[in-house]
Amino acid sequence: MRQMKKIFTLLLLCSVMFISAQEKSKEDLIDPCLSKKSNEYMDRQQAALLEEVFNVVDENPPAYPPARIRQTALYLMDAITHDKYAAFRTPLQETFHQRIDKAITEIENTKVTEGAKIWKLYNMGFVVRTKSVTVAFDIVRGNSAGSKGFSLPDEYIKRLAKQCDVLFVSHWHDDHQDKDVARIFLDAGKPVVASPQVWKEDPIYSEIIHLDRVPNKVQKLKLKDGKLKLKVVVYPGHQMKKTINNVTLVLTPEGINFAHLGDQINEGDFMVDFDWIDNVAKHFKVDFIMPTVWANDLVRITRGVDPKMVFLGHANELGHPVYDRDPFWGDTVFSEPSLKALLNTDYPVIMMIWGESYLYKK
Ligand SMILES: [Zn+2]
Repeated sequence: MRQMKKIFTLLLLCSVMFISAQEKSKEDLIDPCLSKKSNEYMDRQQAALLEEVFNVVDENPPAYPPARIRQTALYLMDAITHDKYAAFRTPLQETFHQRIDKAITEIENTKVTEGAKIWKLYNMGFVVRTKSVTVAFDIVRGNSAGSKGFSLPDEYIKRLAKQCDVLFVSHWHDDHQDKDVARIFLDAGKPVVASPQVWKEDPIYSEIIHLDRVPNKVQKLKLKDGKLKLKVVVYPGHQMKKTINNVTLVLTPEGINFAHLGDQINEGDFMVDFDWIDNVAKHFKVDFIMPTVWANDLVRITRGVDPKMVFLGHANELGHPVYDRDPFWGDTVFSEPSLKALLNTDYPVIMMIWGESYLYKK
């Protein structure tokens, strides 16, 4: 009996050891549903597909209408980023960092003499430069993806802050605000303008500029140590009912006007924002807008502002669940047929991947 007990205890110990060893090796696997070998394959595949994507888009930069092969590359990017664990794989992390580094180097070396140059960074992060001003919107390091290796180093943000005159933050969600980014901008002497819910309970709040959220009201924002008074309108937008979202229209001294829409979205019985969205074009001539790819009535929003061009953001945000990562191909089940409907209008639409840019001329 004692012998039986001994054997039983030994068996129990072995099985516990086996399970914990198995669990430990599972912890090391990026995708725990796959074996080590399969995970390694997924890494190699990600590297190969990313190389192809960027080879194609570099040869076919953003243009309207886009080259067919460029569209294929964007769809391939959708497939890469819709692996649940995409942001945890080294090739994507390295490529993301390289592309943003390349964009910042470009920003450091670009003088705009005519029109506006638009750089697309992560998610709704955009930098727009005209002859007299450089404006940043919703710059984040990518922390929303939940992967340390994916987030951009602070060094990149410091270089970027040096190049920009102001940072606008549309709303409080993680894929749009990054308090450390704001800190870096403030320390560099660059004003940060945000919607009233952003960092509300934090000491940094007192250092943030909160402009009036009034439709069509032109306000002057002192930039470049007071040498430039930039005209700005902050429309009182929302992401549905509860989230206050600034829709910022910038009126540059060169007469190039552009609006960043943050996550502007109206839904169900909350449609009040269309009172001003429908009428923006009656007050201002807008050159281009930067809305999210998934806004649920992109055509109505675009007609209300009536811009010359549309630059879509927010595709493939890696912090969202897979079904909600909003692909370039325009999922009509989750996001309504909004994107496809916009593509069927005469408005020129540009979709860009991390670090890409476009020179807009009147
Ligand atoms: Zn968002």
